[in-house]
Amino acid sequence: GDVHDIGKNIVGVVLQCNNFEVIDLGVMAPAEKILATAKEADADLVGLSGLITPSLDEMVRVAGEMQRQGFSVPLLIGGATTSPAHTSVKIDPAYDGPVVYVKDASRSVNVAQTLIGEGSAEFAAQVAQDHDRRRERHKARRSRGVQLTLSQARANKLTLDWSEYRPPTPRTPGLCRFDDYPLSDLVDYIDWMPFFNAWEFRGRFPQILDDPTVGEACRALYKDARRLLTQVIDERWLSASAVAGLFPANARGDDIEVYADESRRQIRARLHHLRQQRRKRADLHNDCLADFVAQRDTGIVDYVGAFAVTAGIGLDECAARFEAAHDDYSAIILKALADRLAEAFAERLHQRVRTGLWGYVAEERLDNVALIAEAYRGIRPAPGYPACPDHTEKQTLWELLDAERNTGIRLTETFAMFPTAAVSGWYFSHPRASYFAVGKLGRDQVEDYASRKGWSVDEAERWLSANLGYQGR
Ligand code: SAH
Repeated sequence: GDVHDIGKNIVGVVLQCNNFEVIDLGVMAPAEKILATAKEADADLVGLSGLITPSLDEMVRVAGEMQRQGFSVPLLIGGATTSPAHTSVKIDPAYDGPVVYVKDASRSVNVAQTLIGEGSAEFAAQVAQDHDRRRERHKARRSRGVQLTLSQARANKLTLDWSEYRPPTPRTPGLCRFDDYPLSDLVDYIDWMPFFNAWEFRGRFPQILDDPTVGEACRALYKDARRLLTQVIDERWLSASAVAGLFPANARGDDIEVYADESRRQIRARLHHLRQQRRKRADLHNDCLADFVAQRDTGIVDYVGAFAVTAGIGLDECAARFEAAHDDYSAIILKALADRLAEAFAERLHQRVRTGLWGYVAEERLDNVALIAEAYRGIRPAPGYPACPDHTEKQTLWELLDAERNTGIRLTETFAMFPTAAVSGWYFSHPRASYFAVGKLGRDQVEDYASRKGWSVDEAERWLSANLGYQGR
């Protein structure tokens, strides 16, 4: 169900440059296909890459299948949400062969060569020892338990003073759709550092261009990227579309009710949110996004927004042309640029919402550095990210925005967005709204959440597995 492949493609290129034959099964590859291919090709190694949290669970399943089918070859794990801890605690126990977490593409060659070389047994033993150590540490931490009960956490919530504050009324309520948005309007909103991060450069932009060690490589990459970006825009290789919506809403407990209209009599959707349960310093609160919206029983009229943007329409065809010409370098740059344009579009759209559609700031004089630093009022938390880690809430977001019809972005079975160069999220306007990480959840909250979602506890544990603060199923 995962569709992000920049990292995987870089690993593929790097391994191929080092004389490995790489069979790339693309995105959304089912376990059965991966393992059948590995068998047929007599592969020396199997690698899995994932970006979103539901992929973590799928990796455990692939490991289990490898065990069941009698594999013994090493399994390599990589990608943004993977971690040494998850690999040791969840994936490694499912498979007797070596399971190796590979932190980034540059390490993949070394790891792969070691695993098929003379020192493989020694390396595997070392890796197994590391897994044991990490599992022990994890167990010790877990036995300390989650922190606060759900009711204690709720008692320590942020209580905003609604008597002094009137939530802003959107100037343009309802949906606003943007078709074929001019990419040239987005270039100045690009945050370039993540582009370099995709290539494993760390630092700050533009300073990195003058870095004594990596500056030269970064300048060359930047030049190639800017050239390709100009071509993408001039020749209209990609098109961008978006939809934003502003809705009457109030919080009800940890959920947010979205109403069908301003009469607020009919509930159109419930947005489900999770609350931090870790023990906080006395002056800090146990946060939940619902706290940034007025509770229904205050009688105060409030609103919430949602958006989905993509700059990836046409991307796959263009990338495939480069790939067919064996120009992996340009294909990777192109995909990374499309991601940058999507993020830039999200930034630009958010600005237009603040100053126009919602209109709670009349004028905003922020340069791109300030925008990237989020110096503005309001937030746009993305489902699947730390303040709202449940990816399935994207389903509700999609319904509210009629997002598939309005933007062309669809959701995969694990709620990844396709085209991949896409961003979606909620809008909160309150000046105190800020990002946080929900973190680990207690069983009490998982049960409560399950009943609010109409899920079994088992389903809740599956979708929230990355956030369980206890031993789930
Ligand atoms: N300038 C960056 C913007 C993306 S990262 C870029 O071009 O890549 C920042 C975004 O990630 C935020 O706008 C928000 O949508 C999301 N985000 C960050 N922290 C979050 C959190 N704790 N919870 C939910 N969403 C978060």
